[in-house]
Amino acid sequence: MERQTGHLSRDIREVVNNITWMKVIAIGNANVGKTCLIKHFCESKFSQCYHATVGVDYGFKVQNVNGIPYRVHLWDLSGDEQYYDVRTELYNGTDACFLVYDVTNPSSFESLDNWLKEIAKHGAMGAKVVVVGNKADLRSNRGSIATTEGRKWATSRKLLYYETSALTGDGVSTMFTELLDSISEKKPRH
Ligand code: GDP
Ligand code: MG
Repeated sequence: MERQTGHLSRDIREVVNNITWMKVIAIGNANVGKTCLIKHFCESKFSQCYHATVGVDYGFKVQNVNGIPYRVHLWDLSGDEQYYDVRTELYNGTDACFLVYDVTNPSSFESLDNWLKEIAKHGAMGAKVVVVGNKADLRSNRGSIATTEGRKWATSRKLLYYETSALTGDGVSTMFTELLDSISEKKPRH
C-alpha cells in the first residue's frame, strides 16, 4: 500500500480511534524507579515509544486486556516539588495510579501517605490505586522495609500491594496485568 509520510490511511485511523485509552500514572518520591518500571513494561513487548522530558516522562503501549486491545498511556509524574503545577494538570482523567516506594529507602516509604493525600487533593481518588515496593533485588536485612511491613501499610488503606524489581523484571508484569485488568472491568468502552 502506498502511503505518504505523516498520513495515516483511513483504515488505520479508524482502528486507532476505536481503541479505548487507559491513563495510568506513577507517583512516589524521586529515584524510587517509576521511570524504569514504565520502561520495562513498555519495552518488553509490542511497539511503543518512551520520551524523557522535563518534569514528566511518558510512554504508551497497545496492550490486550481480557482479549481487547487498549492503548495504555503511562505517565511518570516527577516527584520533584518544582514540577508541582505540571503534576496537578496531569492527574485529570486518571484511570489508575501506582504508588511506588523503594524498599531500601525508608523515607520513600514514609512519604506514601503524603502521596495518597496528593491524589485525593487532585480529585484522582476515583482511580484504582496500588502500592509498589520496588528495588526488591536490593533488599537487605538492615534498613530495608520488610514485605510484611509494606503489605500491612497497603492493606490498612485497602490497597493492593506488589513488590517489583525494574532491574530483573520480577513482579513487573504481574503488577501491570492485574492493574490493567481491574481498570478494564470498570471502564466503559466506545
Ligand atoms: P524515578 O525517579 O522514580 O523515575 O526513578 P528511575 O526509574 O529514574 O530510577 C532511579 C534509579 O534507580 C536509576 O539509577 C535506576 O537504574 C535505579 N533502579 C530503578 N529501579 C530499580 C530496581 O528495581 N532495582 C535496582 N537495583 N535499581 C533500580
Ligand atoms: Mg522518573
